[in-house]
Amino acid sequence: MLTTGDIARLFRQLAETIGAARDELCRLDGVIGDADHGIAMADGFAAASSAIDALSEEATLADQFNAAAKGFLNAVGASSGPLYATAFMRAAKAAGARAEMPMIEAPTLIIAMAEGIRSRGKAEQGEKTMVDVWTPAAAAAEQGMASGLPLREIMTRIRDAATEGAESTKSMVATKGRSARLGERSLGHIDPGAASATIVLNVIAEDWGQRGTA
Ligand code: ADP
Ligand code: MG
Repeated sequence: MLTTGDIARLFRQLAETIGAARDELCRLDGVIGDADHGIAMADGFAAASSAIDALSEEATLADQFNAAAKGFLNAVGASSGPLYATAFMRAAKAAGARAEMPMIEAPTLIIAMAEGIRSRGKAEQGEKTMVDVWTPAAAAAEQGMASGLPLREIMTRIRDAATEGAESTKSMVATKGRSARLGERSLGHIDPGAASATIVLNVIAEDWGQRGTA
């Protein structure tokens, strides 16, 4: 089972890993944006994790993701703020008001987060954003579940799809967000939001891929 204890631990891990990538993400955003993406993501995940840790013992999975959403949104002024806040609100809805959920349903949380980011940002694949990572990762989750693959294999495919998706943004021209102003000059550079999304998905998929499916 995926428990509230698991989610609290997962967010601590996300805060730590994204925190360690902060400077590199700012550097990537400096090339085609305003160099604040590492700060946004590090502050956001630190706030999300703290908000979860501040909840009472009785908090449900939905409470945790909603607290993460609120914490992230309050901490981040950049466009990644509302995007990840919406992702977590969708995950809250998918997880529901329960203290644990079967591990085999865990991929639905990734699908829900991707849908939240898409509906909030209105970006399509190919526009050089984090959607180019979240959408193929969610598709891998959906296909893996539909084919009845073991959780470990689904998580491996999610990680591969995310890594490929981030790499694919290098050959895209940005048409959404701040870097859209650069037009053709955005070519050749990885999108910072896609890079951070890959880190987020890798942490989640590595964690869940090590678990049994009960
Ligand atoms: P800002 O651009 O406000 O400084 P950040 O630096 O935190 O915000 O995040 C930039 C990232 O946000 C981009 O690299 C891109 O991946 C993502 N992004 C921007 N606009 C959108 C959108 N409409 N939909 C999805 N992702 C977006
Ligand atoms: Mg920025």
